[in-house]
Amino acid sequence: MAIQSIRLFGDPVLTTPAAPVVDFDKELRKLVKDLTDTMMDAPGAGLAAPQIGVGLRVFTYYVDDQLGHVINPDLDLSAEMDEEGEEGCLSFPGLSFPTPRAVRAVAKGFTMHGEPVVLEGTDLMARCFQHETDHLDGILFIDRMDPKQRKLAMKAIREAEWSGLSAPTIRFSPHATGGKAL
Ligand SMILES: [Zn+2]
Repeated sequence: MAIQSIRLFGDPVLTTPAAPVVDFDKELRKLVKDLTDTMMDAPGAGLAAPQIGVGLRVFTYYVDDQLGHVINPDLDLSAEMDEEGEEGCLSFPGLSFPTPRAVRAVAKGFTMHGEPVVLEGTDLMARCFQHETDHLDGILFIDRMDPKQRKLAMKAIREAEWSGLSAPTIRFSPHATGGKAL
């Protein structure tokens, strides 16, 4: 098990587009394992690499007892939308809001072994593919809400107990270091 800490809203890594995976190597397999372990521990229905501080185009999902991952995903979306479905995000603990998403999504990408894969999802699975692929583009679910809903969400986020925790904290030790380098 290699559970990583999940980055919270406010961390710049969550709004930075991730880079495509080029090397399908041991490091990538470790990243998929870390994402899977962290997602299952949370527990969550999906987790994208930037959420554990890694700027690569990789996500994992666990929806309707189906566990998997996609590398370098590319999505085709249905025109039909679900405007009302509730959506949450592990980077916004404890909060969920109605978020418009396409009802069906086809995710084309690769497995961690570099094999092409095509996944078709509807409803929650489609929502997950869209939410996680957005993370890889530095887009968060609040960016998908209509302006009125987004305003309500931002208020709830400001009032959340974890709000602001991701801001960098600089601590100065009151103890002398005895001349040792830090
Ligand atoms: Zn999320």
